[in-house]
Amino acid sequence: MPTPRLANLIDGRLQAPRLDTWLDVHEPATGQVFMQCPDSTAADVAAAVDAAGRAAAGWAGTPIEQRALLLQRLADLVEARLEEFAALESRDSGKPLALARRLDIPRAVSNLRYFAAAIIGWGSESHAMEAGSTGSAAINYTLRQPLGVVGCISPWNLPLYLFSWKIAPALATGNTVVAKPSEVTPCTAALLGELSIEAGFPPGVLNIVHGRGPAAGQAIIDHPQIRAISFTGSTATGARIAAAAAAQFKKVSLEMGGKNPAIVFADADLSDANLDTIVRSGFANQGEVCLCGSRLLVQRSIYDTFRQRYLARVQALRVGDPRDAGSDLGAMVSRTHYDKVLGCIEQARAEGGRVLCGGAAVTLHGRCAGGWFIAPTVIEGLPSAAPTNQQEIFGPVVTLIPFEDEAEALAIANDSRYGLAASLWTRDLARAHRLAGRLDFGIVWINCWLLRDLRTPFGGTKQSGVGREGGSEALHFFTEPKNVCIAYGAAP
Ligand code: NAD
Repeated sequence: MPTPRLANLIDGRLQAPRLDTWLDVHEPATGQVFMQCPDSTAADVAAAVDAAGRAAAGWAGTPIEQRALLLQRLADLVEARLEEFAALESRDSGKPLALARRLDIPRAVSNLRYFAAAIIGWGSESHAMEAGSTGSAAINYTLRQPLGVVGCISPWNLPLYLFSWKIAPALATGNTVVAKPSEVTPCTAALLGELSIEAGFPPGVLNIVHGRGPAAGQAIIDHPQIRAISFTGSTATGARIAAAAAAQFKKVSLEMGGKNPAIVFADADLSDANLDTIVRSGFANQGEVCLCGSRLLVQRSIYDTFRQRYLARVQALRVGDPRDAGSDLGAMVSRTHYDKVLGCIEQARAEGGRVLCGGAAVTLHGRCAGGWFIAPTVIEGLPSAAPTNQQEIFGPVVTLIPFEDEAEALAIANDSRYGLAASLWTRDLARAHRLAGRLDFGIVWINCWLLRDLRTPFGGTKQSGVGREGGSEALHFFTEPKNVCIAYGAAP
């Protein structure tokens, strides 16, 4: 039987790539190819940009109620097929089906609904001027107009979740979109594209072009008609995008890598539930979440007892077939990434790290015998400056680092070129506020992790990001402010 194929969505129609070239898409749990996606080229991107350009004025002029209604309809269609989406996401990425069902797909639905509602309630500023000795009284108001055609590029770890997080605000604000999901996990974005036709989006408003970063992705970055790029992915790719976009003065929003600290103070409430959250913060989605706390800083006075309780929980995590309800961790997303993570563990050993648990691949039997599984791994004994504590691994690997006091915890936490998210566990409210102000990260969670309110600014500092997503930050990014000043003279 031939391998099924995904299509590009261009101008409201599902289309094969112009050169008829295809990429294999693997199921990480088995290592087998189960799908092919277009290996699109600059010609496909150009056709998508043309379609988006033709649709731009009409979409910008569509009343916001109608734009919001279409986003709501799309959300309803995804929700109605949640099981199908979750199964596809799990098959494509290797993540546990239960996680895709509980987190990824519901969050994609929420993203669409949130921005549908946000655009309805959104307003722009006005600034009144009194008449003075030098000028007339006036009223300024700010128009926030769509940019035109924008590019959205997303990664493989939370495929539909992050894809929808970008396209929803872009569309809500009246832009037309050329989007490229990761070629490693293209399936759910393709299904979303099909449903956008059913929802009634006009042709050309949402275009989805599949393909490799250096080909289709680069063509999106380089196209002169694309006015802004919203990107989530690695810091190396983000740097390339920033350089290319700068030459054309494109707006960029870059969400990139992380090496996040989770800081546990001796006074923390280490209830079973909180300890479970700390474990989850390291190993959720096989550690393939940009927000995972991969450096676990523990106050020395509780280090030994904490380590014992923590390790017992990590060792109890089950690595298994993503379809099994009992699997806590599924497969790594690709053979390349699996090799990279195993290489990082070897490097940690070479640096003198002690592997306390895991540290190796896991071989399953039956259906998943050829899959790419790695045991949850905890390493101690490495200084903050060690490469293992500085480089993003993006896998099920956590390092334990002891600290004496608040000052040392802060110094170790901030000792990173990344600044995405930190989590802090303490009962001391004053300390929590103090550290929240001083931690050089875009997000600080106190006594929680991955608790998300979609209205809040999302993003990182340093090499983790440029700009913020979420709430009004996203609405600002996807619009151009224009000040209009109307003079109306002085009072008679
Ligand atoms: P990646 O940078 O390899 O790819 C991301 C996307 O960019 C893909 O769609 C890819 O095809 C595309 N791309 C690659 N080269 C390109 C180029 N030259 N021009 C245009 N597009 C190009 O990242 P990845 O491996 O898919 O994702 C993992 C990374 O993403 C990790 O570093 C992780 O921390 C990061 N991430 C960050 C966040 C965040 O919110 N900060 C969220 C999720 C993932």
